[in-house]
Amino acid sequence: MSNELHQQQSAEEKHKARQQKIKANVDKRVAKATKECGVLVVITGNGKGKSTSGFGTVLRALGHGLKPGIVQFIKGSKWECGEMNILKQFPIEHHVMGTGFTWETQDKATDIAAAKVAWQKSKAMLANPDIDIVLLDEMTYMVKYGYINLDEIIEALTNRPPMQHVLITGRACHRRLIELADTVSEVQPTKHAFQDGIKAQKGLDW
Ligand code: ATP
Ligand code: MG
Repeated sequence: MSNELHQQQSAEEKHKARQQKIKANVDKRVAKATKECGVLVVITGNGKGKSTSGFGTVLRALGHGLKPGIVQFIKGSKWECGEMNILKQFPIEHHVMGTGFTWETQDKATDIAAAKVAWQKSKAMLANPDIDIVLLDEMTYMVKYGYINLDEIIEALTNRPPMQHVLITGRACHRRLIELADTVSEVQPTKHAFQDGIKAQKGLDW
């Protein structure tokens, strides 16, 4: 056997042994994860991909016949978004806060009233065992602005049906919601097309 061939075989064997070790470790961890329960997911950070991740998960759940509920905080009726154009064809409980972006509206009292209505809808979903997965898109801002009581949110999340999944998206998520969540992802903006003067693109950004 040539030296080159011998070296190649030995590298392959080493690779195989390494992969087997990784697989054994993964299998051990998979075998340990036996619990079945509703999971609270927070997707936060300043990078792009939070809402699309939330809506993607709703689509995934629908694909398994699960029943979703969606509340869109912040986004108003004039802000069309492609995901809802599709999702509204499915049996989904859906509520849009409908005042537009909060930093665009000047009327704080109207915003607070709209936030409270959206929160009542969310609360009803969080108490309904027929809803398998609840997306609370951009809810973090309602806490940041003090429009919804944080203790009330934590109580509703804690007492929700045990098998219900919840997804909360938005920047600057409150520390207590992060502590309560089972899964937290922070999306980092390594770069964004907007910084290069590229406007929000239909089908990609909305
Ligand atoms: P997406 O809906 O695309 O998943 P997102 O939910 O992570 O984005 P938001 O903070 O809700 O982000 O912002 C909504 C809009 O702002 C989207 O059009 C998104 O492309 C854009 N956006 C997100 N992150 C940034 C950023 N770092 N700089 C500029 N624009 C951004
Ligand atoms: Mg978003």
